Amino acid sequence: MPRVAFLGLGAIGTPMARHLAAADTDLVVWNRTTARAAAFAADTGARHAVTPADAARDRDVIVTCLPISRHVEALLDGPDGLLATLPAGAVLVDCTSGDPATSRRIAARLAERGIAFLDAPVSGGVAGAVAATLTVMVGGDPDVLARVRPVLERFGSRIVHCGAVGAGDALKAVNNALLAMHIWGTAEGLVALEKAGVRADVALDVINTSSGRSNASMNLFPERVLTRAFPRTFRLALLDKDVGIAADLAREQQVPSPLLQLTAELFRLAHGELGEEADHVEAVQVVERQGGATVGGGQAS
Ligand code: NDP
Repeated sequence: MPRVAFLGLGAIGTPMARHLAAADTDLVVWNRTTARAAAFAADTGARHAVTPADAARDRDVIVTCLPISRHVEALLDGPDGLLATLPAGAVLVDCTSGDPATSRRIAARLAERGIAFLDAPVSGGVAGAVAATLTVMVGGDPDVLARVRPVLERFGSRIVHCGAVGAGDALKAVNNALLAMHIWGTAEGLVALEKAGVRADVALDVINTSSGRSNASMNLFPERVLTRAFPRTFRLALLDKDVGIAADLAREQQVPSPLLQLTAELFRLAHGELGEEADHVEAVQVVERQGGATVGGGQAS
């Protein structure tokens, strides 16, 4: 196994890094809040670094998983930055659900130093990260992907080459825009059905054996909405960012996209209303409040 650094021990980065630590890899971790990296290191036997430059020293592969591409770009420069120590021949694999333009800019900067870049966002959620069954969608040179594939296979069960740098980001954004549409549309339909006298559990039972079903109707609504559990696994702020990237992509490609643009607007407003820490499925509560009923019965609060 190559020498790996993992930067960004958030909700999904932590279980991804755990698989690398468990794989007898020479692993260094870094996190903006150092205490998290120190706790991870104490727990797993990995080493923790205090700066990105320390983490990158002598590494073959750097994996980043931060909220947005610009956060990754900001790690490159300065005496504590990745470029201060990252050797030529290394590969930066960015698992952030990023934006294609920033990824292309990062790739160009790294290429000047002989460092390769892949955008490699993941899907499958925290549960998929824990189970090491993530899908990894990769943009960049397929030969570089072949070199780092064993690292990605530690946390991903499907590694898909999607195209040039930025292709993984673009595909991930569209996937998540569809997720957002399904969450919002299912919420509108179920609130209307509740008010019309059709219970949500009955409605979901039928929808989930019919053509309107989706991951939202089959998993998210039964497990998180009907139970009112709304666990915090994937922040609404991050889904808002993803839908925005998809809406921008469609505009850049001059594709008429009223549904994407409206979904971006709805999730921007929901994010503003519910704040930075809300989970993505909590967007359902905005629809419930507007509609005056909850999915599963009862008055919306
Ligand atoms: P979290 O918000 O849980 O964690 C974010 C991580 O990034 C933390 O380690 C945080 O450090 C760090 N961070 C935040 N801002 C900065 C910054 N400016 N500079 C350096 N580090 C920073 O995010 P997730 O782990 O949920 O998501 C990470 C990426 O993965 C996102 O792009 C997201 O869209 C994507 N993703 C997430 C999924 C999920 O289910 N959670 C599923 C699929 C993709 P600190 O500890 O200091 O706050």
